[in-house]
This record gives sequence, structure tokens and C-alpha cells, in this order.
Amino acid sequence: MDPRVQAFLTKQHGLFIDGATREAKGSRRIDVFDPATGEVAATVACADASDVDRAVASAKAAFDAGIWSGLPPVERERILLKFADLVEAHGEELAQLETINQGKSINIARMLDVGASLGYMRYYAGLATKITGQTLDVSIPLPPGARYTAFTRREPVGVVAAISPWNFPMMIGLWKVMPALAAGCTVVLKPSEVTPLTSLRLAELAIEAGVPAGAFNLVTGDGATGAALVNHPDVAKVTFTGSTATGKAIARTAADRLLKTSLELGGKNPAIFLKDVALEQAVGGAIMGGFLNSGQVCAAASRLYVAREIFDDFLGALSQAVGGMAIGPGLDPASQVTPVVSALHRDKIIGHIEEARRAGARVVTGGDMPNRPGYYVRPTIIADTTNDMVICRQEVFGPVVTVMPFSDEEEAIRLANDTNMGLTASLWTNDLAKTMNIVPRLKAGTVWVNSHNMIDPNMPFGGYKESGIGRDFGTSALDSYTELKSVCIAT
Ligand code: NDP
Repeated sequence: MDPRVQAFLTKQHGLFIDGATREAKGSRRIDVFDPATGEVAATVACADASDVDRAVASAKAAFDAGIWSGLPPVERERILLKFADLVEAHGEELAQLETINQGKSINIARMLDVGASLGYMRYYAGLATKITGQTLDVSIPLPPGARYTAFTRREPVGVVAAISPWNFPMMIGLWKVMPALAAGCTVVLKPSEVTPLTSLRLAELAIEAGVPAGAFNLVTGDGATGAALVNHPDVAKVTFTGSTATGKAIARTAADRLLKTSLELGGKNPAIFLKDVALEQAVGGAIMGGFLNSGQVCAAASRLYVAREIFDDFLGALSQAVGGMAIGPGLDPASQVTPVVSALHRDKIIGHIEEARRAGARVVTGGDMPNRPGYYVRPTIIADTTNDMVICRQEVFGPVVTVMPFSDEEEAIRLANDTNMGLTASLWTNDLAKTMNIVPRLKAGTVWVNSHNMIDPNMPFGGYKESGIGRDFGTSALDSYTELKSVCIAT
């Protein structure tokens, strides 16, 4: 282990308010576990409502003083690029910390949590200098014959509450913090109580990069801390990634004061394999789509629909490949299936599998916990399901996929869309005409063809139906951190 990681784990972590570490008023500490061993790896503070109040007050004061939004955009860009450089310089340390806290493979932590995050950081740093309005011609001047010059401005919304989940804590935290800061907002980040460590390190690096005190605050805590943040009257926008249930609770709170929200919620995402797809490609795609980060991916392909003509071959080959995946701790680069995030979550996943068995589904491979310490679930394939079973309707968020045959494309589309969620979908075929016919009919915010889980800062990401409101990424995400002001000047 990197000695910097060891030192960070043993630190007495506080909250990050007004540019420095502060002791929490709330005296409760939260144990943070290493999912590979089940042992406590660190402890963090649990912020109470008064701590949240201090963090929001700091963000509001920084916003009102214009110490961040008032900087020349190129200066904001420079500081955010420096922030990215520091994350890169500390990449190995951050990757190990993420693996120890979340359980994921160190390969994924290096490639996605750090590697891909750098791309997001630089993308949004660059957009700080490209925030523009429009000039507008006025059609109906009053009184007739008067002259006006009109234009729009994009202005930062104010204090942003960013609430992040535990599957990609650092990366998803940055998906929120970076566009907010690029737009000139100030931020209070609340990571999941289960995985707060990399976010704490990020806050230190942001200040080191030159983000002014108050522009980036962080409170660690539990659901009550998150609720206090959402309820705070000085928060102008909430950006949230997590469960549909919590997303709905936030939306209800937000409705009372018409608070702006972006909600990226769960998925029950289908992957459709047409009969022309090569077996090897299909199996590789299903593993990448369904088992990345032990299935703890909101975009994961958890429902596989396979053309009846290739179903038996597909199920046989997939079961063999999945049954042979190496189970082990994330710090071992050879591990292909790593522990899930917590004992609670492991038990929830096992509960889903048991429920599927009781409903008459067949566990083809996996379905239990290996006999070892830590929070492991054997990668699991479930067949003989029907779309009305709970296992096909609720997000499991673990290394579990269901596999069902379909007779024709109409049936595949109907099965794929038969869900109250709509985050992602994938289609596996080399038939161009079928691709162009099926893609528009899939009710999902992202549709991949011959790939799954491919995301990019330039590609909007978010959900249809109960998978959320709004989109992360792209220039439109930046817009969601701004107010659009029309200015009309009589000339
Ligand atoms: P939650 O939705 O409860 O957690 C997401 C974030 O919201 C965490 O930071 C959490 O804090 C915070 N939070 C919890 N309650 C509130 C509240 N009332 N107001 C504001 N913030 C709150 O997800 P869970 O951790 O309970 O996971 C449950 C399920 O959600 C998973 O099994 C999975 O299906 C789904 N999920 C989806 C994710 C996605 O990427 N879309 C990511 C994670 C989970 P804290 O953790 O401290 O309670």
C-alpha cells in the first residue's frame, strides 16, 4: 500500500469548510469499512444540521462576495486545470484509497475513477471559458417603432448541494463539482457515509490548486446530513446521484420551494442480443455490461434478452465464463469479481437472489457468498425468469444478471421497455437496418450499439422515466448550473 494512503487512513478526518479542515460540532463518528476484509479502515465525522449550516454559510458568503464567480473565466479554468493536474499527480494514492474504501478492482480505480475523471475534469475546466449567451432580435417592440437590443446571459445559480453515491464516489462527485465550479457556483459536497474517503482527499487537493476558501466545502455524514443540506434555504440547486427512492424524497422536498434539481437515479438496463451477433462478442459484452465493478453501476446491463436461436449457446458460454471469474480483493489486479460495498448491500443482493429462487427462477451459476471474510457475492446468472418477477424489475446493483430468450425484435423491444426505469440500454448486432429501427424505440437516455457502459463527458447521460431528471455531461449539464437571464435594452 502507498504510504500516503496509510497516513490518510489514520488521520482524524473532520469536515472541510471555508478552505480548511474543521472539527464537526456533531460528536458522532462513522466507521468506514474495507469491503475486502470487513474491517474498519478509517473513521469520519458525522455532520449535524449546524455543521451543514456552517458549510452552506461559507459557500453562500463565497458566492455573494464573487470571489469565485467574479474571477476571469480563464482564471477559473487555470485553477480547475491545476486541480486536475494534482489529481493526476496523486492518482495512484487516490486509486488505492478508492479500492480500499469501495472494494473495487484497482484496475478500474486507476482506469475510471482516476483516469476517466481526469478527462471529465479537463473537459469542464475548459468549458469555464466558453459560457455564452445569445444576441436576440426583438419582433414585437412596444411601442411600435421603438428599438431594442436584447441578449441572454448565463449566470451561476448559487450554492450547489452535490450528493454523491458509493459506487464511484470520487468520479461521480467530480461529475457534479466540476461543472458547478466551472459555471461559477460554489459547492457543498456530501459523499455517501459508506465511501467518503476520496472526496475528503479531493477537497484538500482543490484548495491546494487554488480554489478559494468557501468555493468548495465538504460535509461527511449520513442520510440525515444529506437531508439537512437539501432542506437548507440557501441552497439554490441539488445535484444527486443515487437510488430512485432517495431521489423521489429529494424531489418532494425540492417541490416545496421549487428548488432546482438534477437527479441521476437507478437503472434496470436491458441488453438485447440479436441472432447475428458472434458468441464471443456477445459474452464479452454481457460480462462488461453486467459485471463491471461487481455490477454496482447504475448503467449496468442487468437484464439480458437473447434471440432464441442463439439462447442456449449464449447461456452456456456466459455461465462458463462467469463461473470461471477470479474472485478476490480489489487491490489484487488479478481479481475479476471484487467485494460489494458493504455487508448490508451484500445481504440485500443475496436477498434478491433468494427471492428470485422462491419466484421460480433458476440460478444457473453463482447465487451465494464465497466462504471468506469481506463482502463477496459470487457472480450470478439467473434464467427461467419472467419480466414480472421482482428480480427483473428492481435494481439489484450487484453481480447478478437475468437472461431471457425472445422470439423476434418486437418482443425484444417490448421486454426491454417493460420497466419503470430508463437509464441505458444496449443492442448487439451487425445489422445496420435493424439497428436504425430499434435504437429510436428503446426508452433509455443512452443506447449503446455493440458496447455497454461507454460514457464520455461530451455525451449527455441521464434517464427516461424513474431513472431521473436532467442530464450529466456535455454543455447542457453546464447550463443546468446557470440561470438564463434575458436583458433587453431600449436603444
Ligand atoms: P441512497 O440513494 O440512499 O444514497 C445516495 C446518496 O444520498 C448518499 O450520499 C446518501 O447518504 C444520500 N442520502 C440518503 N438519504 C438522503 C436524504 N434523505 N436526503 C439527501 N441525501 C440522502 O442509496 P443507498 O446507498 O441507500 O443505495 C440503495 C440503492 O440505490 C442501491 O442498492 C442501488 O440500487 C441504488 N444506487 C444507485 C446509484 C446510482 O448510481 N444511480 C448509486 C448508489 C446506489 P448516505 O450514504 O450517507 O446515507
